[in-house]
Amino acid sequence: MKKNKLISFDLDSTLVDPTYTTFVWEIGIPELYAKKYNINLSEATSIVIAEYARIGDSALEWYDINYWFKYFALPGKWENLLEVHRDKIRTFPEVKEVIKDLVQHYDLIVTSNAAREFVEVELRETKIKDYFTRIFSATTDFGQVKKTPQFYERICEIMGKSPSNTIHVGDHYEFDYLVPKSIGIEAYYLDRDGKRPKDSQACGGLESFTVKNLRDFAALINPIT
Ligand SMILES: [Mg+2]
Repeated sequence: MKKNKLISFDLDSTLVDPTYTTFVWEIGIPELYAKKYNINLSEATSIVIAEYARIGDSALEWYDINYWFKYFALPGKWENLLEVHRDKIRTFPEVKEVIKDLVQHYDLIVTSNAAREFVEVELRETKIKDYFTRIFSATTDFGQVKKTPQFYERICEIMGKSPSNTIHVGDHYEFDYLVPKSIGIEAYYLDRDGKRPKDSQACGGLESFTVKNLRDFAALINPIT
């Protein structure tokens, strides 16, 4: 069966629980830092977190674990750090079943702003990689720290789909909902914790494009499943 439509999924906090990435950045790296400079963990954590904040998430380096290893002169390889903590990688409970259903009717892709190293290990460990036709990292593949309208346009172009034949779902109100919607993509805001931004209350129509989990999302877009 020819698949006319494309579904693009955000990765962290959409398909995969953020515990792993948070652990690597906020515990794994501080632990190495504490060891290297012979200080206690809480001191190391404060230093490391302050440095992340100084660089800021609008700089590409912020997402680049290789950069931070060099910057802090940490011992060992960043690859090992990602591997050591891989037992913490988990999809949300409904994810596997939902994508198994959806892949029968849609082409599926992942569009993340995490660096490719993280995306690869997360998809490999959760064993969901093969369901996706393509994996895009905004930072690694496009040198962009945010999912801009141009990012989504480029994805549609590469995938040979018009925005009107593309659906996107993710947990970031601006970058996974407002931005893709602005170029005509059918976007859904995944609000697992019911934290919808206050300024969105007045936004007409959001209600019908907000989902609590991916099962709700699948039911909305695809009455077959
Ligand atoms: Mg996310």
